[in-house]
Parts: sequence; structure tokens; C-alpha cells
Amino acid sequence: MASPLLSVDEALSRILADARPLGSERIAIESAHDRILAEPLAARLTQPPFDASAMDGYAVQAADVAKLPIKLTVIGESAAGHPFSGRVGAGEAVRIFTGAPVPEGADGIVIQEHTKREGAQVLVHGDDVQTDHIRPRGGDFREGMALLDAGRRLGPRELSLAASMGHGELAVWRRPKVAVLSTGDELVRPGETPGIGQIVASNHLGIGAMLRNFGADVIQLGIARDTAESLTAHVERAKDADILVTIGGASVGDHDLVAPVLSKQGMELAFWKIAMRPGKPLMSGRLGALRVIGLPGNPVSALVCARVFVVPLVEQLAGRPTATEATRPAVAAVAIEANGPRQHYMRATLTRDGDGLPRVTPVRSQDSSLLSPLAIADCLIVRPPNVPAAKPGDTVRVLPLDF
Ligand code: AMP
Ligand code: MG
Repeated sequence: MASPLLSVDEALSRILADARPLGSERIAIESAHDRILAEPLAARLTQPPFDASAMDGYAVQAADVAKLPIKLTVIGESAAGHPFSGRVGAGEAVRIFTGAPVPEGADGIVIQEHTKREGAQVLVHGDDVQTDHIRPRGGDFREGMALLDAGRRLGPRELSLAASMGHGELAVWRRPKVAVLSTGDELVRPGETPGIGQIVASNHLGIGAMLRNFGADVIQLGIARDTAESLTAHVERAKDADILVTIGGASVGDHDLVAPVLSKQGMELAFWKIAMRPGKPLMSGRLGALRVIGLPGNPVSALVCARVFVVPLVEQLAGRPTATEATRPAVAAVAIEANGPRQHYMRATLTRDGDGLPRVTPVRSQDSSLLSPLAIADCLIVRPPNVPAAKPGDTVRVLPLDF
């Protein structure tokens, strides 16, 4: 049992060593929200495709309205989706609406506030009347322009742009399939009433939600009992996943069967003790192409270890820009004790007063089995191994819990 403790960074770099994007797939743009572009995207269209009016009014020859008032003959109408097919000559005007093509011959738009319609004619009046209300063809982008890089996440702005660029399908990285398995004879499903000695399984929900937020396609495998048969049957259903995350049963107790059962199925297992709090035992291995990560069962340990070790793996397999280095500075609001040999992820709350760095205060209990302090916290203070005590006002690093 005297195996040396592995640092968080070392464990993470081993987990990430050969993690690359899983491959791309073409999907309908309607389903592409929050996916990651696997290829750079070039415009297939020019936008706007024609000179378009930016206002409601009249399309004219600008020279005609240099001196006002003047009466012009209205020869037709151009509305969005219904262009005017003729040509505007001197002394003529075409009634036009926002988004409509500017007819040939016209080079200016007079807004309707400067006009008065008189039957077949329009009177243009006013001082200093501007006519440059035209959105020129290609003013947004032209066919062939590369506008979105590979690796770009498809949020609201990217989706609208890609659609207007003429794309109905996009090549995106495949989402990693992550199977999540709770283990334990004591666990009942959420919503069930626990019997004597039982508790409600909760970790799989938080971990599933977290990994989904970072790009995973999550498959919940339910609860395996602490028997070889039950574990084997549940793990069987993870065979076409990319990652299997097990929760609990990963220590060295009599009922901790995850490692022996998976090893028996041919998994090469690394069983690490990590120099971190909360969390310490962490299992990592491969069963064919399936990556397995075994998390501790204690709820806070499970969630923190999932954030620290599984999230970056999911991100890399998903081709997403990694949030691994997502810690940021904050100012200790109170004294924080010196740290021991394990990197400590302390549950804490941030307050913001003024423009400077936020102030951070650890929550009262740092017990790794307690979920309610974790729900009060909005960040984790990351205390590296063996750092001295922090005084109020010292800068520390925090990992936001905004997932
Ligand atoms: P284990 O690692 O299996 O010894 O579990 C450590 C502690 O975490 C025990 O108190 C378990 O009851 C608890 N635990 C294990 N799995 C879960 C889960 N999925 N949800 C909530 N608590 C759990
Ligand atoms: Mg257990």
C-alpha cells in the first residue's frame, strides 16, 4: 500500500497522453449547436447576394435628388423577395422596402420620411437628404472567404453565420460517448426511498450533467451491485462507448470489485493514488478502445475528480479547446491554512466588490462526503502541495464551478 502519491499534473498528463479528437461526422446544421467544427468553413455564397435597400423609401438616381424638392415618376415596386425587373432612369423612382434588391439604374435610396406620394408620382422634399441607404453586394462576405476556423465551437453567432454562408451540413468532431456507472449495494435510484442502510445514488447525475456540458454524449448505465456478475453485466453495455466512468468501489475494501472485475475482462489497469484532496484513489485503464476512469464514491471527491481528470479527457476527445488551465486569480478574504502534501481543492465562495479581483472565502466544511457545502460553493480554491498559509489579501487560484 506504500505506493508513492502521483501528482495531479502527472496523472492528468498520463490520462491525456494519447487523447485526440475521435473523428469527424457531417451533421445537419440544425443539430450542430455546441458542436466543434472539424474543418475550416468557407463561404459558399456572397452576402448580401445583391445590393439591398437598408430602408423603406424610393430607389432613385442620386443626381435627381441633389436639389429638392423634385417630383419623380414611380415606375414600379421592389419588395423583399419580389425584385423589380426593370431599370430606373433619370426622373424615375421605384418604391422599395428594406431588404429588397436595388433596381438597375438606381444608385440611391430616399427614405420615405422625405417623400409624399402623389398618385403615379412621388414628391421628394427636405434638406440635406442622404441617399446612401444601400447595403452593397458582398458587404458582409464573399464566396470563398474562410470565416470560421476548425476547432471553433458552434454557438448562436457561428450557427447564424454558417447558415448564411450557405451550409446546410457541417463537419464536426464526434462527441465522445461516456458511459457512467454507479456501483454499490447500498445505492437506490433518485426518487426512491432508501431502506435501512441504503442511500440515494447521486453522483452519476452531477457527473453526467458536467460531462455533457463539456461536449460528451452521456449514457447512464445505472447502478451495479457489488458483485462480479452485476458489474460485468453493466460494463458490457459500455462496450461501444469511448469512456467508461465508474463511481465508487475503487478502493481496496472487500467490496471494491471494479478493478478486479475489469482486470479479469482484460483491462490493463493503472491504480493510482493521487496527491489530492478530495479524492485519492483513481483508476485508469483501457479495455480495447474503451478508456476507463474509476472515480472515488464520495460525492464531492467524485465531482471534483471528474472535473479535474475526466473533463479534460472529454474535451480533448471532443476536439474542444481545453479548459484545463481554467483557474483564475482571486484574493483570500480570510486566512487559509498551510497545505499538506496533497493538492487541495477547497470549496469556496466568491464575492465581488468593485473592479479588482474577486474575494474568496472557503466554506465551513471541507468534508468530501457533504454535498450541501458544495452547492453553496461557487468555486474551488486550488492549493498546491505544501504551500504555506495564505494571509487575507494574498492571491490564490480558483477553479470556477460554473458547469
Ligand atoms: P466507495 O468508494 O464505493 O467505498 O464509496 C464511498 C462512499 O461514497 C460511500 O459512502 C458510498 O455510499 C458513497 N457513494 C458511492 N457511490 C455513490 C453514488 N453514485 N452516489 C452517491 N454516493 C455514492
Ligand atoms: Mg462502494
